[in-house]
Amino acid sequence: MRPEDILAPTPAGLCCKLGGFYIDPTRPVERALITHAHSDHARAGHGAVLATPETLDLMRLRYGENFAGATQPAAYRESMKLGGVTATFHPAGHVLGSAQIAVEVDGQRVVASGDYKNVPDPTCAPFELVPCDVFITEATFALPVFRHGDPDGEIAKLLRSVALFPERAHLVGAYSLGKAQRVIALLRQAGYDAPIYLHGAMESITRYYASRGIALGELRPVRGASKAELAGTITLCPPSSLKDIWARRFPDPLTAFASGWMRVRARARQYGVELPLVISDHADWDGLIATIAATGAGEIWVTHGQEDALVHWCGTRGLKARPLDIVGYGDEDEEAALAPQGQRENGGENS
Ligand SMILES: [Zn+2]
Ligand SMILES: [Zn+2]
Repeated sequence: MRPEDILAPTPAGLCCKLGGFYIDPTRPVERALITHAHSDHARAGHGAVLATPETLDLMRLRYGENFAGATQPAAYRESMKLGGVTATFHPAGHVLGSAQIAVEVDGQRVVASGDYKNVPDPTCAPFELVPCDVFITEATFALPVFRHGDPDGEIAKLLRSVALFPERAHLVGAYSLGKAQRVIALLRQAGYDAPIYLHGAMESITRYYASRGIALGELRPVRGASKAELAGTITLCPPSSLKDIWARRFPDPLTAFASGWMRVRARARQYGVELPLVISDHADWDGLIATIAATGAGEIWVTHGQEDALVHWCGTRGLKARPLDIVGYGDEDEEAALAPQGQRENGGENS
């Protein structure tokens, strides 16, 4: 059996005919298996959705109770028979509830990893290596220039700035699902115990994370806080709000942005960010190639970003590799959405 007979790239996403489902379909389908709740992977309107309980909850929070005809929770590492295949969800280390989905037929295993990172994150289960024959990988930061470094060092940078400018409000731009909660958890790990303020757009998701036992400390809505109260504080907000009229309620705001793209100075300048923080929920170049090698897969399918460099690297290692041209991945929730224009145009998700 060819791997394409197990999972076939189609315009609607990865299709498993034998199992009667799609993985992260970009259009409404009868049955969808969803890797994680970022909105380019998790769309509303499918007949049935199979995903981790956290992903289902997060989809419910974003789309409402009736986001799918039916839902079924999938526990990590619990194999399920679906038609002629076996499907198993494994932690992807990307955001709360994120999963890689392994699809197996006759001892042949294809792993669709969705988005992933192989570094510790206090807000989600760690990435689990799943040996496989074909590994489907994202490529958001698949250029050797992208090395994310140590997130604790970036958090220390933020805390130094807060200590240095006690009169200013620190605004940290971060994606509302995953990144914002990770930044808060990292601040708490670093010993910061003052209340942290939240933009309205991230309140419900952040409270959901807290309800799952993730230590986020005291959280307050920005809504209703006086200008004086906000001096010397840290507020998390969507990156788009940094330049908004919304930011004017803060006393002398100092803007930070937590993203893997902050490695690129021009990008930080483009967003008018004073304090770039290199913190990413995607694997960096070293993480991608180490993971690919460790899966033992002989064949790599690349989606979602800078496919060319990764396909080329696989070639130099004697691995069979191809880009998957699936349109529709990457959106405002995600760092993938910030890919440079040229790159976003040539291929797949990036468009
Ligand atoms: Zn994602
Ligand atoms: Zn993605």
